[in-house]
Amino acid sequence: MEKRKLNFNPGPAALPLEVLEEARDQLVSHGTLGMSLMEASHRSPAVEELIRETEVRLLALTELPPGYRVLFMGGGASMQFALAPLNFLKPGRVAAYALTGSFAEKAFQEAGRIGKTAIAVSSKMSGWRRIPAPNELTVPPDAAYLHLTLNNTIEGSQWNAVPATGGVPLIGDATSCILGRRLELSKFSLIYAGAQKNLGPAGVTAVLLSEAFGSEANEEIPLIFQYRTYLQNDSLYNTPPVHSVYMMNLVLKWVERQGGVAAMERVNEAKARLLYESIDRSGGFYEGAVDAPDRSLMNVTWRLRDAELERRFLRSAESNGFEGLAGHRSVGGLRASIYNAVSLEACKTLGEFMDDFARRHG
Ligand SMILES: *Cc1c(COP(=O)(O)O)cnc(C)c1O
Repeated sequence: MEKRKLNFNPGPAALPLEVLEEARDQLVSHGTLGMSLMEASHRSPAVEELIRETEVRLLALTELPPGYRVLFMGGGASMQFALAPLNFLKPGRVAAYALTGSFAEKAFQEAGRIGKTAIAVSSKMSGWRRIPAPNELTVPPDAAYLHLTLNNTIEGSQWNAVPATGGVPLIGDATSCILGRRLELSKFSLIYAGAQKNLGPAGVTAVLLSEAFGSEANEEIPLIFQYRTYLQNDSLYNTPPVHSVYMMNLVLKWVERQGGVAAMERVNEAKARLLYESIDRSGGFYEGAVDAPDRSLMNVTWRLRDAELERRFLRSAESNGFEGLAGHRSVGGLRASIYNAVSLEACKTLGEFMDDFARRHG
């Protein structure tokens, strides 16, 4: 086999090698099915069981209390930017958004096409360098919901505490941090996560929904856009992305074997520390893109003194087997995405490379 790269891609992102190997072994003939799961009817017991099993696993790993369901939907996290307001932003109401990065802004813009919106807080003027303090938020008391982006994938920041909302329901985009650290998910009525960062390959989005909140959703919109439809049909109203759910189930089993979310969080803290330490001890050669208290555990972002030196860094990194270290095209700079499947060893190697590059070019 060709040597695998040290993959720091932001999403689609690295998957655990064990998961890929298990999927390979089951690809042509799944268990006793006599065919691959991709070829099986989505009405077959094997697929029904897969959906059920994956839901149970994700609910257990996220430690959500009874009353939540997991829906498996297509369309990516971006589709949830529209589906959340379509379902929960009814005429006459306002939806509040905390703007902490460009994905938060996209969610806000999409909601503005559907109904009335309000900015609860924005850190745009700081160049997205920080996460607002809880007392900086203004949430209209009668808001339909407050939307938070728990980890800002592009900018490299994260919410460390969930702000109080005075009873306004919370909707969270957890695409790039779900299962990477313990999150106070039970405070949310709806959490969504595109799979391709921490949960599996692209193609499926996990939607964790409080059934009570789901029952309040708009019934006027097309059935295919209603969370209710997915709730009532156990995600089998139409053909779900079966293979992506299958891969997610393997990833969830892998997370269980690592010891669950608390264990992932411990490793992820050690991984992030290695890279942030390389940034901080470089004497200004590397500049972190986010204020230290708000730095993300999953997306480490930094800059060098000019774009030419950043290009040199990337070229040198590439020839040393590192992949995916360029910052998002909208912000430039550098970014290492260190989701659950990226090993401590890979982060150590990257930290050493960064120290060495700083020595040679500082
Ligand atoms: C990647 C990402 C998205 C967009 O996901 P798609 O599945 O490509 O639509 C949205 N929000 C966050 C926080 C992300 O990291």
